[in-house]
Amino acid sequence: MLALVVGLLPGAVSPADARPDPRWHFYTRDRTRYVSPWFAGARRIMVPYGCTRAPYYDPDPRCAHHRGFHHGIDVAMPCGTPLYAGRRGRVLSPSAPGRPGPAYGVHPFRIRSAVGGHVRDILIGHARRVYVQPGEWVRRGQLIARASDSGAPDGCHLHFEVRLPGRGYTGAIDPSSYLMLRPA
Ligand SMILES: [Zn+2]
Repeated sequence: MLALVVGLLPGAVSPADARPDPRWHFYTRDRTRYVSPWFAGARRIMVPYGCTRAPYYDPDPRCAHHRGFHHGIDVAMPCGTPLYAGRRGRVLSPSAPGRPGPAYGVHPFRIRSAVGGHVRDILIGHARRVYVQPGEWVRRGQLIARASDSGAPDGCHLHFEVRLPGRGYTGAIDPSSYLMLRPA
C-alpha cells in the first residue's frame, strides 16, 4: 500500500522503478543495477565509456572495426529521475571553455570539482530541469536536475562525463571512479 501511495506522488520515482523506456538499447552485457550518489534508484548502464558498438558516434582511430568512442557513461533511467551532486563543486557558466554541443541536450551543465589536487569538470548531459545556477556552489547530495531525453534519441538517461578542466570532449577521461557505481 505504501508503495502505491509513493508511486502516485508527482515526480516520485520508486527505487525499484521497472518501467523500461522502449527506446533504450543496452550496448553492454552488464545487467547489474547500480546505485550512485549522482542519481536516485538502481539503474543499468546503457553505454559504457570507451569504444562501443553503439551507432551514435563517429568512427574513432582508437577503436577497431570502425567503432566510435563514447566519452562518458550512459545510465538508463526514466524521465524525471532526480539527479544529485555526487561531490562538492561549482557550476560552470555554459559559455566557459569546453562548452558542450547540442548532442548533450538543451541544458547540459558542468560542475567543476577538486579532490586531491585534481580539478575536473563533471558534465551532466540530457538533463531537462536544472535546479542550479552558473557560479553556484553545490554540496554533495543536493538535487541538481532531473533526467530527460533532451538530445537523446535513445530515451531518457544520464550521460555522465568527466573532463580535464576547460577541455572539450577530447579532454574526457574514464568517469567510473567519479560516478561511484555500486551494485544495488
Ligand atoms: Zn552518452
